[in-house]
Amino acid sequence: MSSRVAEFMEQLIAKNPGEKEFHQAVQEVAESLMPIIDKNPAMRKAKILERIVEPERVILFRVPWMDDKGEVQVNRGFRIEMNSAIGPYKGGLRLHPSVNLGILKFLAFEQVFKNSLTTLPMGGGKGGSDFDPKGKSDNEVMRFCQSFMSELFRHIGADTDVPAGDIGVGGREIGFMFGQYKKLRNEFVGVLTGKGLAWGGSLIRPEATGYGAVYFAAEMLTTRNDSLKGKTCLVSGTGNVTQYTIEKILDLGGKPITCSDSNGYILDEAGIDREKLAYIMELKNVQRGRISEYANKYKSAVYTPVDPKATCNPLWNNKAQCAFPSATQNEINAQDADNLVKNGVFVVSEGANMPSTPDAVNIFIDHKILYGPGKAANAGGVSTSGLEMSQNSLRLSWTREEVDQRLHGIMKAIHKQCVEHGKSGNYINYVNGANIAGFLKVANAMMDQGLV
Ligand code: NDP
Repeated sequence: MSSRVAEFMEQLIAKNPGEKEFHQAVQEVAESLMPIIDKNPAMRKAKILERIVEPERVILFRVPWMDDKGEVQVNRGFRIEMNSAIGPYKGGLRLHPSVNLGILKFLAFEQVFKNSLTTLPMGGGKGGSDFDPKGKSDNEVMRFCQSFMSELFRHIGADTDVPAGDIGVGGREIGFMFGQYKKLRNEFVGVLTGKGLAWGGSLIRPEATGYGAVYFAAEMLTTRNDSLKGKTCLVSGTGNVTQYTIEKILDLGGKPITCSDSNGYILDEAGIDREKLAYIMELKNVQRGRISEYANKYKSAVYTPVDPKATCNPLWNNKAQCAFPSATQNEINAQDADNLVKNGVFVVSEGANMPSTPDAVNIFIDHKILYGPGKAANAGGVSTSGLEMSQNSLRLSWTREEVDQRLHGIMKAIHKQCVEHGKSGNYINYVNGANIAGFLKVANAMMDQGLV
């Protein structure tokens, strides 16, 4: 780490104690950007880096709700409005017991750069709650979502801040929140994305993050005159991003062999085909079951439960060429990264946000593999959210083919920007590429708009 970055990080850590994921996300970006800032005295004088790490606004609120037994429950709600230099705040809502201020600030910070890369006019934000939807009835989830929105509604709006889904927030939760917003405001507007098709949603939005991560991998492969055809792929998670990552890998001729949830993972060396994927979707989206059940149904699969004492994740220790981490942050540590490289993986396209620790990222870059960081590789989700906003403004709906074509075009444009800003000799450092390209647009807009 350079002395300028070390000094910057020391101040940031002192000011934001205990927010370790936020520190991690900022440090990676600061390392890419410091050389750019140092070459630009006007930006340095305007303290753009110091300003960009400070949220424009943080909203923290009480979310009381009643469970099915009639007992009062209290959760904490958050919305981080990070940066609105290039458009309304935009970013998902996460419902997971691990949610805290540091995690949401890291996600909101990443979102600023990601949204800038999409080529669409969207600022960055993120929010959520430490509510755990697992094991809750539909009515409990509805009462929580209504209470959450009863405070959030006064801070968001179609031209101000447009939340979407993330871990634990899918179509069901967006529906309950949209209903409550509409009731409180008495207006039908595109204030949330990921909506149902009958009430303002966009075709391809559910598929977009997973499809986008695979399109991005395919783009990276074309730089080496290669393709996904015939490649064995490791995928983690079993949620929204994972399901459509697997679907698109199959479309492009690859062979997905793993997926996981927080209890364990399955390895199916025969390959997860379309029929098995349909089963996973039914299991996870309708029955809300566990992935261990897959191995009971398909004898070609082996289930390995999580070992809390393990120092690495066995999912990443299987022979393959491509990896699509699609569950959560820091799910690939240095040992996992070593295992991946040792097993022949030379493409990592991150569907999840910040799934690789800094040491793991360094291993990928040292081995000069094709490594697409989340803020570029998973930007397809928010891009299609941006397309949903456009359709809502136009009061039109585009066809599936039209949205998919636009998504594909945006992923290519993101890849192109990463190459432009990340090329170093004959290696493309996509981390630098994504950070620098994402930053420049936002920083220039901040310079244009004065000290606000
Ligand atoms: P889902 O809630 O649909 O699925 C999350 C999956 O990850 C589940 O299989 C879950 O297992 C697993 N998981 C979550 N937390 C942990 C944990 N701490 N340890 C192990 N496994 C865990 O979420 P999404 O698919 O929407 O999101 C996955 C990732 O993609 C996140 O990092 C998210 O920020 C990122 N992302 C999502 C976008 C979207 O459009 N949805 C857009 C861009 C990024 P279990 O069921 O056991 O909890």
